[in-house]
Amino acid sequence: MKLTLYRPNLARLQYPLQCLLCQKSYWGRSSLCPQCRQLMPYLDYASQCHQCGLVSAHSNLCDTCRIEPPAFTQTYVPLAYGGLTSLLLNQFKFHTNFSAGKALTQLWQDALPKQVMGLYQDLDMIIPVPAHPQRIRKRGFHVTLWCARHISGMLARPFVNTWVERPHLAPAQKYLDAQTRRCNVADAFQVLQPQALHNKKLLLVDDVMTTGATLNALAEVCLDAGAKVCYVTALARA
Ligand SMILES: [Zn+2]
Ligand SMILES: [Zn+2]
Repeated sequence: MKLTLYRPNLARLQYPLQCLLCQKSYWGRSSLCPQCRQLMPYLDYASQCHQCGLVSAHSNLCDTCRIEPPAFTQTYVPLAYGGLTSLLLNQFKFHTNFSAGKALTQLWQDALPKQVMGLYQDLDMIIPVPAHPQRIRKRGFHVTLWCARHISGMLARPFVNTWVERPHLAPAQKYLDAQTRRCNVADAFQVLQPQALHNKKLLLVDDVMTTGATLNALAEVCLDAGAKVCYVTALARA
């Protein structure tokens, strides 16, 4: 008989984890305790318009998307902005706390509905919303690239950030109204490798989706360059 050695992860067995949000100790694998995970403001995919992600009372396609649909075909965003989501996002984006980023992407994966998982099965490429180099330097890291890399690992689909760029430094979207947001992003993106995008099924990744203007502008340039379809996702919806 052949004996195999059992080597348990002793660190994990001996020490409880500390929850990022409530600081309580608990046993588990996630960086949030079960209570805090339950308290997160989850969005219900079943009651959203599947194209734009906004709440749609009667069907999975809202009136706006019937009349004037966005360039992207489908939206998945698991969490509402505000409350505990904002606490984690602030830690992640403004204090470079990657544990908070990991907690958010873990929630993104855990809440992923089966039907969305089905759509993501044959993605050709995951593309983060490009950021201007000056904004990346100021923040210290590329937020959406970080998210795309983690989502790429979770879905086992490739990601790339060299096909589209953001050549101009525009004002941050969060200070603008809906109309100005649309103008602000109208020519925000430039495709660098149109031949690479040709006939590709893409997932475009942002950290926070608000009106969807940024993701719509990115989807437009990708589709104009020949992409087949664009799905969009973000960690939270404001
Ligand atoms: Zn907790
Ligand atoms: Zn809609």
